[in-house]
Parts: sequence; C-alpha cells; structure tokens
Amino acid sequence: MNKFSDLSLQPVLQANLAANGFVEPTPVQAEAIPPALAGSDVVATAQTGTGKTLAFVLPLLNKLSEKRTKGVRALILSPTRELAMQIQEVFNKLSANTGIRAAIAVGGLNENAQLQSIKRGAEVLIATPGRLCDFIGRRLVNLKTTEVLVLDEADRMLDMGFLPSIEEIIAQLPTERQTMLFSATIEKSIAHLINKHVQKPVRIAIGTTTTASEQVDLHVYEIDGARKLGLLRFMLAKEQGSFLVFARTKHGTDRLAKKLSGAGVKAIGLHGDRTQNQRNQALKGFQQGYYRVLVATDVAARGIHVDGVAHVVNFDLPQGPEDFIHRVGRTGRAGNRGVASTFAAPGERGSVRIIERVLKTKLQRQEVPTELPADQPEIRDTEEVAVMSRPFGADKSHGKKSFASKSFSPKSFAAKRSGGPAAGKPFRKAAPWKSKAGAHRAKVAR
Ligand code: AMP
Repeated sequence: MNKFSDLSLQPVLQANLAANGFVEPTPVQAEAIPPALAGSDVVATAQTGTGKTLAFVLPLLNKLSEKRTKGVRALILSPTRELAMQIQEVFNKLSANTGIRAAIAVGGLNENAQLQSIKRGAEVLIATPGRLCDFIGRRLVNLKTTEVLVLDEADRMLDMGFLPSIEEIIAQLPTERQTMLFSATIEKSIAHLINKHVQKPVRIAIGTTTTASEQVDLHVYEIDGARKLGLLRFMLAKEQGSFLVFARTKHGTDRLAKKLSGAGVKAIGLHGDRTQNQRNQALKGFQQGYYRVLVATDVAARGIHVDGVAHVVNFDLPQGPEDFIHRVGRTGRAGNRGVASTFAAPGERGSVRIIERVLKTKLQRQEVPTELPADQPEIRDTEEVAVMSRPFGADKSHGKKSFASKSFSPKSFAAKRSGGPAAGKPFRKAAPWKSKAGAHRAKVAR
C-alpha cells in the first residue's frame, strides 16, 4: 500500500486518518497493517519513532468497529505509564466518532477512575502488566472477551521483569485471538513469548534491530566527570533546539536539572520517583517547549515521543547497547535529523567500543573545547556514585551488574581537589571514584 486511502477501512477511520494528516504509511505501517487487517498475528521489530503505535491501533480499531460487542475486546500491554498514555493519545485521535472507548489501567494513578472507565464499557484496555495483574488478582476485570492482544515494547516489558505478569495475563485470554507483538529488538528471551503465544505470525523487521537511525549523527566526547556539566552548557549555548539528557540515577537526574536551572537554562527532571502528575507535567512542559532540557533516567527512553528533540545527550553512559539505541532513538524522528552526543570518561572506552561493535557503527570522536563554562566540579555523593568497573557486555546481564561504585565522602573529594586544576580546566588525575576499592553495586534508576 502506498497510501492509507488504498486500504479498505471503515469510512470513519479513513476520515480520522485524513483529519490528523496521516496520508502515507511509514514502512512498519505499510508492512504490518495489511496482514493485521486480514487477522494474522504479527511480530514486528521496529525502532522507536517509526509509527508502530498507529500500526496496531488502526487495524484493531477497524476490527472492533466492524461488529460491536460488549466487554474488553482489545488489550494493549505497555511497559510504562507514559507509553500507555501516548498509546491512548493515538487511540483517541483515530477512534473519534467510532463510539469505541479505551480505558487505561496503569500504576501510580487512581484505580477507581480506571475501574469505572472499564465498567462503563471501554472496549479497549491499555495497561501496564503490574496494575492489570493486580486487577485480575482481585477479580476486577474480565478478559474473557478479548479478541486482540498487543504487546508493545515487549523487550522492555521483559527487561523490567514483567514476564510472570504477562504470562498471568495471557492465561486469562481466549486462545482464539489475534496477537501483535512489537519490539525494538528481538532477542532470544522474546522468542519464548513468540513461540508460546503467537500463532503463525507474519514477521516484519524494519531496518536492523541493532542499529541506530541513520537520521542521527552519533558523537562521542571523551571527558572527565568533572567537566561534563561545562560541556553540556557549552552545547546548550552553541546549539539551537531542545535537549533530552540521560543520567543514570534518579538523584543524578534531579541534581543535573537543578544545576542547569541554576545556570539559567529551563530544565526539568523526569524519573520513576516522581509522582505521575509531576512526570506528566515535566513531559508536557518539555513537549510544549516551556522546558528546553529534559533530564531523564532510562524510564523516559522507551516509547516517549517528543516532536523535534534536536539533541540527545548521554550525560552518563547507558547500561548497555540496547539502552543506547533506545535513547538515541528519541531524536532524528519523523524525517528530521538529530544529534546524539555521548559523554564517556577515559575509563569507559571499553563500553563505547562495545556500543560501536553492537551497532556496527563508529561514533564520531569530537574534541572537547578547551574553554568550557566554569562550573564547580561535580561533587557526587556517596551512595549514588556509579562507575563501570568492567565494560558492559562483560557478563550476560548486559552490564546491569557491571557497574560498581566506590564510597567516598564529598569532603575527601574536595580535599583531593584542592591544588587541582582551576575550574574549567581539564582535570587530569583519575577521578577518586574510579578507585577499585570498596566497590558496591550502584543504584540503577528505573
Ligand atoms: P510512534 O513510533 O508510534 O511513537 O510514532 C512516532 C511519530 O510519528 C508520532 O508523532 C506519530 O504521530 C507520527 N506518525 C506515525 N505514523 C505517521 C504517518 N503515517 N505519517 C506521519 N506521521 C506519522
């Protein structure tokens, strides 16, 4: 199909596509929608930002609107609340005037409102596995009428330990149903879900699953931790557009957002410890351009769509190459070019090489400007210091366990710093937190 108008869809859906300016399908849509409309199971690997939400929402809406029956008829599982809400937004656009409603069941929001919405006859349920399992356990939802199951970002759901919940949920569904599974990457762990729960699927792979978008220029700066903030401020001063900055820890996220605000940059932090309201506001403020910088943990890396992010910055290295792909996929979307800059300490070269090997791409080495805005060197506090003791990929846990940290007090750090280089000048000595002694597992923010 070259255009949505080529598809035999309910007229109301054609009208909604046109009203929202959707004329030509993206590649994943062009490949996934026809078999999905024909009722086949679909397994699609597609990178974020490729239009996969519409690829499953449109066929399921067409199916539900052909014949109306009662109960939950389509279930969409998403790893995070944010993604669930974005799916709902796409759903709302495409379902206008169909009379088909979607309820949402996600943690962190009032459950009564969600249950009411289901009871009032929502035919589509968009849920995160944890909250839905809770509802199932308390017999608050009945999924026996489900005709379509969508697993969105299946790899992420597995990463987040949702496999038992997913199994429990699927056990509630009729075996006779259509299943669509979307994932940015398909690893062996996903094969298990596919083999067990998907029947004769049409397999779709858009691009390779281990490369970043060609629309994104991938830069790497070798830089000590103490100078990273200066470099980020330098980039903010030199370049136009919005910045999505990834930090590893929740605390680091807050601290960086605060430091940027202190330097006069409109910045806000987004991570899992924020209330849902705060998360929504941060995202909305960033989407609407009120905040120029969103500092986030990886919770924001998947599935979050913000139009026109000009620049992604890996202020801290991601846990592994997959997170790298997801992070950089936040820019260079919908035909725009983007830049993704990775800040890596000299001791993190091994990790950069692993990213390059997995992506089969060389990150472009960039010179760190000698003159950076003068900042206080970063004082990291004891429990949040997180450095890699080994490059990721050194074990099978995808590096999750390969981060270790060294306890030290800001005081001793300050003492070591005295007599060190002036602020803004390269700090050549190995940062004290790179010492091997006293390593303990770092807190990993989610
Ligand atoms: P997604 O990958 O589902 O998060 O979609 C990424 C962005 O692409 C969203 O802003 C969509 O509104 C937009 N989009 C999806 N499909 C199309 C299309 N066929 N034409 C233009 N924009 C689209």
